Amino acid sequence: MAKDPERLVPNVYRIDGFGLSQMLNILAIAGEDGWTIVDTGISGSPRRIQAGLTALGIRPDALARIYLTHHHADHVGGLPGMRAWAPNAEIVAPEYEAEIIAGKRPMDPSSSPVNRAIQRFNMLSAVPVDRTVREGDTVAGFRVIATPGHTLGHTSLLSESQGLLLTADAFGALPRKLRVGVRKAFCTDPRLAKRSAEKLLAENYATVVFSHGPVLRENPKDRLQEIVANCNYA
Ligand SMILES: [Zn+2]
Repeated sequence: MAKDPERLVPNVYRIDGFGLSQMLNILAIAGEDGWTIVDTGISGSPRRIQAGLTALGIRPDALARIYLTHHHADHVGGLPGMRAWAPNAEIVAPEYEAEIIAGKRPMDPSSSPVNRAIQRFNMLSAVPVDRTVREGDTVAGFRVIATPGHTLGHTSLLSESQGLLLTADAFGALPRKLRVGVRKAFCTDPRLAKRSAEKLLAENYATVVFSHGPVLRENPKDRLQEIVANCNYA
């Protein structure tokens, strides 16, 4: 059974999109115009996300929007399922990523030949995006920060008022070790991913949540700094 969502800050909850805790984190954000979820996990995630939302008392018509940080299959794979559950939710994504999600542009090639081969079998089902955003725009009270490299249009989200940074895959752990861009082989442009990780060190936050990995609550910036310092992508 899915565990109940974890409250990160007063307005934001973390839902497990996969059976192992903190391996695939979906955020649910309460806003003035309803709830927003960030990312949709893999194709099997919607039943977990829906159970989490239901546990929070959120019915489909209260889900105002679905924000997608980037086009990878473990972030948009659950989009058809979530869209079927909440057909009125607005689908929002960064400009470049939206074109891929909508099927108008091919997926970014991975920097790794093995991953490029796998990608050929990992086709996305195209879903139209209702609204696109760019650096500096606001989604559910969070500022969009462009963090390209993991994918070319990848984004992170920051709530200054709640001191919460969602890196998405600008950082992350699969399976355990925290790295820039989750893993080098998953990045389209690893060097660019490192520059984007450095960019996040200039922001202010007290809590850091990754799409993949444990929530950081103690001196999170020191931890991110250490990860960047140990990153040898070249
Ligand atoms: Zn990714």
